[in-house]
Amino acid sequence: EAKRTGKNRFVRFQPPMMEALLQKSRLQESLRRAVDDHDIHPVYQSVQDREGNVVQYEALARWTWEGRPCPPSIFIPEAENSGLIVELGRQVLTRACRDAGAWLAEDAGRSLAVNVSGLQIAQTDFAANTLATIRKQGVSPCQLVLEVTEHLFLEPDVHVIAELSALRTAGVRIALDDFGTGYSSFGQLQALPVDAVKLDRSFIDKILTPTDRSPIVESMIALAHTLGLEVTAEGVEKQVQADYLHGLGCNRTQGFLYGNVAPAI
Ligand code: C2E
Ligand code: MG
Ligand code: MG
Ligand code: MG
Repeated sequence: EAKRTGKNRFVRFQPPMMEALLQKSRLQESLRRAVDDHDIHPVYQSVQDREGNVVQYEALARWTWEGRPCPPSIFIPEAENSGLIVELGRQVLTRACRDAGAWLAEDAGRSLAVNVSGLQIAQTDFAANTLATIRKQGVSPCQLVLEVTEHLFLEPDVHVIAELSALRTAGVRIALDDFGTGYSSFGQLQALPVDAVKLDRSFIDKILTPTDRSPIVESMIALAHTLGLEVTAEGVEKQVQADYLHGLGCNRTQGFLYGNVAPAI
């Protein structure tokens, strides 16, 4: 009797750390199966030019785990830690090219943006494999934008720079995602193989009224333009934010103001 109580008590008062470990290994296992089964697929968020035309779609990975959507903030870091991101990234790129093909073909000014993690770029032949993948889907390099986070360049890596440079030579554009969160200096930014920056939404959501201003946003747009980089603002939810950004010369806007993410293009 005493033994059973003890056992029950152990189960009931399972230390939170143990629970977290079990949850983590379940996540790892499920994620591996999801990648094997091609269960993770992209949805699409539109990117608007200054006139409001949709000129780009960004592919964002989605995964339904145990009946509920599992946020990318959970499964992307896990995929990076386990190395699954390499195969997952390949699947997202392939599927996105297939989904966007017809839409891209309608107008030469249109592009598709796909997020890539540092671990993917660290692979041997990342540039060559990426070009082979998109060509197989009929998408040309000048229609593709790869988004890499600013954090990737905190310690610039020779191989990463070389792969991204090779892609740019082929016509692929590189965008610095979550710009402003990684403390890139003017000098660093100038030396990086990038064509565009995406202002992180944490800066945009400070703008709430027509009189609000953000010295950070203003100087980041000015800095990017000085370097000849195109600027997209992400997380635009309110018209005042769009108006403010357009007044500063921001080239493109993206966010829930323009609707929700769509399952198809
Ligand atoms: P990100 O690339 O900066 O993507 C933008 C995130 O902001 C998306 O979250 C999007 O749904 C969200 N968002 C867009 N507009 C708004 C808005 O107006 N308001 C608010 N509050 N949020 C908005 P999501 O889909 O949860 O993705 C989170 C991050 O996960 C992405 O940030 C990206 O870094 C990463 N991620 C997503 N898909 C992939 C992928 O296929 N590969 C890799 N390596 N990373 C991915
Ligand atoms: Mg992105
Ligand atoms: Mg972003
Ligand atoms: Mg972001």
